Amino acid sequence: MDKNLHIYNTLSRKKEVFEPINPPLVGMYVCGPTVYSDVHLGNCRTFISFDLIYRYLLHLGYKVRYVRNITDAGHLEGDRDEGDDKFAKKAKLEQLEPMEIVQKYTLGFHDVMNIFNTLSPSIEPTATGHISEQIEMVKEIIANGYAYEKNDTVYFDVEKYNIDFPYGQLTNRKLDDLLEGTRELDGQDEKKGRLDFALWIKAKPETLMQWPSPWGWGFPGWHIECSAMSSKYLGETFDIHGGGMDLQATHHTNEIAQSQACNNTSPVKYWLHTNMLTVNGVRMSKSAGNGFLPEELFTGNHPLLERGYSPMVVRFFMSQSHYRSTLDFSNEALQGAEKGFQKLIKAGETLQTLKAKSESSVNIEELKANCYKAMNDDFNSPILIAHLFEAVRIINLINDGKESINNTDLDNLKSLFNTFVFDVLGLKTDDTNESNDSGLTGDLIDMILNLRLDAKKNKDFATSDKIRDELTSKGVVIKDTKDGFEWEI
Ligand code: AMP
Ligand code: ZN
Repeated sequence: MDKNLHIYNTLSRKKEVFEPINPPLVGMYVCGPTVYSDVHLGNCRTFISFDLIYRYLLHLGYKVRYVRNITDAGHLEGDRDEGDDKFAKKAKLEQLEPMEIVQKYTLGFHDVMNIFNTLSPSIEPTATGHISEQIEMVKEIIANGYAYEKNDTVYFDVEKYNIDFPYGQLTNRKLDDLLEGTRELDGQDEKKGRLDFALWIKAKPETLMQWPSPWGWGFPGWHIECSAMSSKYLGETFDIHGGGMDLQATHHTNEIAQSQACNNTSPVKYWLHTNMLTVNGVRMSKSAGNGFLPEELFTGNHPLLERGYSPMVVRFFMSQSHYRSTLDFSNEALQGAEKGFQKLIKAGETLQTLKAKSESSVNIEELKANCYKAMNDDFNSPILIAHLFEAVRIINLINDGKESINNTDLDNLKSLFNTFVFDVLGLKTDDTNESNDSGLTGDLIDMILNLRLDAKKNKDFATSDKIRDELTSKGVVIKDTKDGFEWEI
């Protein structure tokens, strides 16, 4: 059996054997959330997919430095350096400081990641915390001849870069094709080439977040933060870079160009991209307005939902599809996932009660090999789950006295179950998964009340009152205390 881990690399468009640059160390960078609003379930799918990848690399014994950034500046509404700053716009709308917006949604993001049982990254750097690194990088790109300044804004010169390096390599597009799909420049434009993008943007007098730079007061373009922070923490070339597929064509293509133009080396060995969570075939996104918030899913408080589902059911639902396949969201699929999850957890409980016999009639070694084979094939979690259901079948047959298992095999089966269900798939079975009369789990009520605390801290009393009223209507009695809250059904 091939024991190597194979990873599909977007850059080479094929599966490659995973050979870290400096084993057992692995550097992994994942583009994190833009914290001007709540994360939706689509964002969660990407972060849960990378949690699975992180967990499996750890299980294989790698020492992973996992960097996931927080984008808290430099994000304009259009992909191509146009429109308002999303943070400033939201700050005005909510009558908060931009950094209050950042704090509010970062806390909410962490709450959601905890409830989905994802492991924290090793480093979670912010764009605003790395302005000087970004400025240094822009200076270096200008010095190397791949960027130019125009009216206090600095642009990356894509056509010049493309003479020396292939610009559209990540999506396998030639410059001419890319140029064809981009609008012509008009008299208003400052940039020289249609595909040029901003590295540093001149601030307007009313710009809320701005910093001094060699080009005057301004703020960084969106892409430069990831180039600056990944090279700072993982080096000029590192192992894995990930994000959603929607980031390939612009954000990651520009990241490669910036890092290459600055450091004269290709920054990443393996590019990994997760596919999109869709609703009725349409990508879930903040702008499309079809984004479910995790708590809407947990409470069932959404017009498209028949009822709520526990976070572990949602996590299991996501693991049932491969990270590179699209996943469509539906009530039926969630109900199916709930049944499957419960069956798996129940078999785990039965497993603890099985008694060993002197002989085994089951083949646990083969089962174990199949589980590794699935995960080694580009982290194929749906195939892994199919093998885990074979384990469920075996457990139930032994329990019914139709098969037997010896001591060694029983230990192996328990270890296999724990490894793949809990450590790798990141599922958990604590009693808080069981719903009480409110239809909510204890974990969920805690999470929702923590979100309410965050809302109160941010003086968002409308949200805090709404959460209290919704929970009260479900029979949850909330008592605010000095340290936070207490609740009972
Ligand atoms: P954002 O906060 O919009 O910058 O997105 C954070 C992460 O979520 C990025 O890696 C996106 O590629 C990813 N993402 C956005 N929408 C979806 C979706 N519908 N399904 C899966 N991942 C998504
Ligand atoms: Zn990024």
